[in-house]
Amino acid sequence: MATLFISDLHLEEARPEIGEQFLAFLRGPARGADALYILGDLFEAWIGDDDPSPYYAGMKQAIRELTDSGVPVFFMHGNRDFMIGERFAEETGATLLDDPHPIDLHGEKVLLSHGDSLCTDDVEYQAVRAMTRDPDWQAAMLAKSVEERTAIAQQARMQSQAHGDAINLEISDVTHDAVDAIIREHGCDVLLHGHTHRPAVHPLHVDERPVHRIVLGDWYEQGSMVEWDADGPRLETLPR
Ligand code: MN
Repeated sequence: MATLFISDLHLEEARPEIGEQFLAFLRGPARGADALYILGDLFEAWIGDDDPSPYYAGMKQAIRELTDSGVPVFFMHGNRDFMIGERFAEETGATLLDDPHPIDLHGEKVLLSHGDSLCTDDVEYQAVRAMTRDPDWQAAMLAKSVEERTAIAQQARMQSQAHGDAINLEISDVTHDAVDAIIREHGCDVLLHGHTHRPAVHPLHVDERPVHRIVLGDWYEQGSMVEWDADGPRLETLPR
């Protein structure tokens, strides 16, 4: 039995192959798991739990089938789907987690994060992040109609793509200072995150203590997961 971690699927109706792989994953490998952790950006966009799209309903139903089968599912917000709320949790049976979230796994202290908060060199993005995570901002957004929110999300996505193209790729990776600080603060053995789409296992030292930073990959071309059992963590790709 293993605990599974995934992130950055960026599910959207326009990329049906990702959704098909996710559904096969939920009905396949995830069924035998101790637990499934989804560390953010499951969806490319999320305008609110009241979005009536049948595509999202199908994804929520598939997660529900997994939790009904007895596998606990945990969800952490990403920078795309940060508007997921309690209604989503009730509909899917998933438990929402704060970012970061510490867990104990086979004797190791593991700190889970989406990873965007660690990209501290991207000052412009961090300002947007602070704004959009503000409960008042979210309440004002949710007071708008589904149609208005859809239009706003499309505009934000275009701006985000323009920003991503304009900045140096190095900037949108995590910074060593932010990684050291969060590992030091939580005293974890492993920091496990996604967001950067740079899957890797990084051995490092913080205050001369050996630790690991494990980065999940995105699901654009293939799946990516960390499978963690008594033998430790393995970062794996899931061929499409
Ligand atoms: Mn992200």
